[in-house]
Amino acid sequence: MFCGGGDLTKEDAWPLWLLRRIGADGPGEMHSVRGPGLPQKWRVGKAGIRIGTVCRQCNNGWMSNLETAAKPVIESLLDGANTNLACDSQRILGAWAIKGAMVLEPLRLKPGVFTAQERAQFRQSLLLPPHTKVWVAKVVDSPGATCETSDLFSKTSSSADQVRGYVTTMAFGELAIQVLTFRLPFAVSPSTDINADMRPGPWDSTAIQVWPSLQSPVTWPGKMGLNGESGLHAFSQRWIPLSDPETATG
Ligand SMILES: [Zn+2]
Repeated sequence: MFCGGGDLTKEDAWPLWLLRRIGADGPGEMHSVRGPGLPQKWRVGKAGIRIGTVCRQCNNGWMSNLETAAKPVIESLLDGANTNLACDSQRILGAWAIKGAMVLEPLRLKPGVFTAQERAQFRQSLLLPPHTKVWVAKVVDSPGATCETSDLFSKTSSSADQVRGYVTTMAFGELAIQVLTFRLPFAVSPSTDINADMRPGPWDSTAIQVWPSLQSPVTWPGKMGLNGESGLHAFSQRWIPLSDPETATG
């Protein structure tokens, strides 16, 4: 999916070292929700979720390098102590999260989150796609390893001329990571800041933006944590769908 290579291998969407680290590597259920109103659970065994869309070269090459770079940063967040994330650690975390959102994209109801060109540039030079932001938040009483996606555009409209927002929220034990990316029907500079409105919530105290980095260093964790599965779900659903005002108040 990144280079067009044909020698496909089963990439672990959730790296095994991370599942082991949070004690989620045994057989069990992984909860996944694809889009509002469409809950779906994936039954997973020891191997976690494996997605056969990545070629062996990518998996053993740049993706493995990114994993190696991200591992100490992620471990420092899971250690339980307060820690500071410098700008370069924030970027690695952002890149790792975006890689996760790209690898998980085929499981979404409505793909089209990232373009082939964005995946290619990410592979070649770890260039992060434009109009994409990443946050981390601490989860208290974490439900384990979860992934929840939502689409910030009208389900009914198939028109290509609307702004589309895509949210991917992944959680691994105490660490939640959220990727928000926008697809725009018009050309704008990559540096133009695109935003969606949020539902009320303690997001300033819980969510720490790591990409683009706003501050260096940032302190982990935030003042407040997300409270278990319901807190995580509220975090995942904090963005108000664009051009869908009926559900915006719900
Ligand atoms: Zn490849």
